[in-house]
Amino acid sequence: MKVFENISLKEYNTFGIDVKARRLVVIEPDDEVPPQDGEVQVIGAGSNMVFTKDYDGTVITLSNTFHLSPLTSHLVTAWGGMVMDDLIRWTLDNGLYGLENLSAIPGTVGASAVQNVGAYGAEAKDFIESVEVYDLQERRHCTFSNADCHFAYRDSFFKHHPNRYLILRVTYRLSREFVPNLSYKALEGQPHASAQQLREAITELRWSKLPRPEEHGSAGSFFKNPVVDDAVVVRLKVDYPDMPVYPVNKLSAGWLIDKAGWKGRTQGRAGVWPKNALVLYNAGDCTGDEVRALAAAIQQDVKQKFGVALDPEAIII
Ligand SMILES: Cc1cc2nc3c(=O)[nH]c(=O)nc-3n(C[C@H](O)[C@H](O)[C@H](O)COP(=O)(O)OP(=O)(O)OC[C@H]3O[C@@H](n4cnc5c(N)ncnc54)[C@H](O)[C@@H]3O)c2cc1C
Repeated sequence: MKVFENISLKEYNTFGIDVKARRLVVIEPDDEVPPQDGEVQVIGAGSNMVFTKDYDGTVITLSNTFHLSPLTSHLVTAWGGMVMDDLIRWTLDNGLYGLENLSAIPGTVGASAVQNVGAYGAEAKDFIESVEVYDLQERRHCTFSNADCHFAYRDSFFKHHPNRYLILRVTYRLSREFVPNLSYKALEGQPHASAQQLREAITELRWSKLPRPEEHGSAGSFFKNPVVDDAVVVRLKVDYPDMPVYPVNKLSAGWLIDKAGWKGRTQGRAGVWPKNALVLYNAGDCTGDEVRALAAAIQQDVKQKFGVALDPEAIII
């Protein structure tokens, strides 16, 4: 275990925001989780977070050590701090299939269960067998089955109990047979002889639309796609017949932001990604407050133009 005092979190969040934590505890796979007093914030790779000020408490994170144990021919248990994409690469190299559509999503194994990460027609919940946690409040280990996790779209039981359960390990149930999931429109009809080829196609598609964290800081999709009433869809379709609507009455936040004229614009040192209006990015050493101000301006404008409220998907601290 490593403990740092008064440390910058710039390297611990993909937005690259330079705030300090009073204390940072980095836990290794063999460590006992130490008791914590005072306020605690659990982070993974900080790829869905925006820090707006110094954190006057303890930030806990797991080391990104590559540490996993195959349990049976279909089950594999991975350390919560492992980079999710490293796990996916390993599974494909070892003939275990299912996670390939989640390739290259930034972040850790532990967060995949908190966020129920999803992309290109797949979601983590479809492969998670169980989640081993340390309950920071009750100071004991326990295991959640898939049903206990109450997974939903980018949601889980853990999201509703923030900073209480430290996810130490996640067990995934995978398949020995590669059945390509081509349900996402851009993948339809593409021949993918192997999971590796599908992984490469997905990775390429991803980075054609999103900023690479090592080049431009961001938290990925900043807003959730809003779900609205029938009456709102009917009203908007009159003025915008080409507006995309997904089941059930889900609108595209990116489309609304683009239509409101924000794509490619900057405000202060925060900007809207030119190739994807759903992504806010760090246009040059921005602060969390600049990101928050840009998000608020977009929310206000979209509300005024379309009468639709946008909620952030990113966690603002
Ligand atoms: C460029 C880019 C593209 C992205 N694309 C996608 C995408 O396609 N699909 C998608 O779903 N997401 C996407 N994201 C968002 C992000 O990758 C996911 O939310 C990811 O799961 C976050 O992982 P993390 O380890 O960085 O978690 P963090 O951002 O550090 O934390 C996220 C939440 O999980 C909690 N948490 C983290 N680790 C643990 C743990 N071990 N125990 C308990 N709680 C924990 C935190 O407290 C926080 O509430 C993208 C982000 C970026 C920057």
